[in-house]
Amino acid sequence: MRERLYRVQAIVLKRTDIGEADRLLTLYTPERGKLRAVAKGARKTKSRKSGHVELFTHCALQIAKGKQIDIITQADTLDAHIALRDNLDRVSYAYYLAELVDQFVEEAVENVELFDLLKFALAWLGERNTDPGLLARYFELQLLTHVGYRPQLFACVNCGKPVEPIENFFSAEAGGVLDPACATTTREHARDAQPLALGALKILRYLQTREWATVRVVRLNADEQSAVEMLMYRYIAHHLERNLKSVAFLRELRQPTVTYERGAP
Ligand SMILES: [Zn+2]
Repeated sequence: MRERLYRVQAIVLKRTDIGEADRLLTLYTPERGKLRAVAKGARKTKSRKSGHVELFTHCALQIAKGKQIDIITQADTLDAHIALRDNLDRVSYAYYLAELVDQFVEEAVENVELFDLLKFALAWLGERNTDPGLLARYFELQLLTHVGYRPQLFACVNCGKPVEPIENFFSAEAGGVLDPACATTTREHARDAQPLALGALKILRYLQTREWATVRVVRLNADEQSAVEMLMYRYIAHHLERNLKSVAFLRELRQPTVTYERGAP
């Protein structure tokens, strides 16, 4: 019987209600990558498991292998990320980070670096002096590296020459930066190429290659922020071939008037 049970550390990426009182959880683990398991009775308020399997909670689980789906038999909280829970803005960023991981990884593919990135990012998100937008951009670039979609920012993706410190172009389709000459000659492989200002390129490179401890003190102005955000949004949407739900949610949050009009009778 013993090999039917296994223990994992996990972060709860997603939960779906099933049946009367159960929850289906999508979990991210360092040892087994993404996996799904049922928390039986998790929606009963007196359930011993319920508090340990909240969204974004880092927990230690004992799981029993099932014929169709695995079942959580024990749960303990390692970090509930309390600090980010009382702030809707930060919680919606946490949704976004979790959804990015969920969308970019296949089940049962081990990726310890990505697990650690998510674990640390959720902790950083709860810190008062963290700029959540900056953290989201940092997370995107680091995640893309860990899952094999690292955008090329140092050499032209077409000719391989080092990128000059001038205005260049960026193409999600081509996978990174194109120099001005190649941007005009490779139209068919880079239909989405758009001008990339030198300032935005420097920010992207900084976020891609530095540790968060260094990046965290950077303060972007509104133009830099929206340029980098739009570029990352297009790059990620291109590679996922669809828009993430939580991106739409974050956008709505920033436009309260739009949300209000929609909600009005
Ligand atoms: Zn080139």
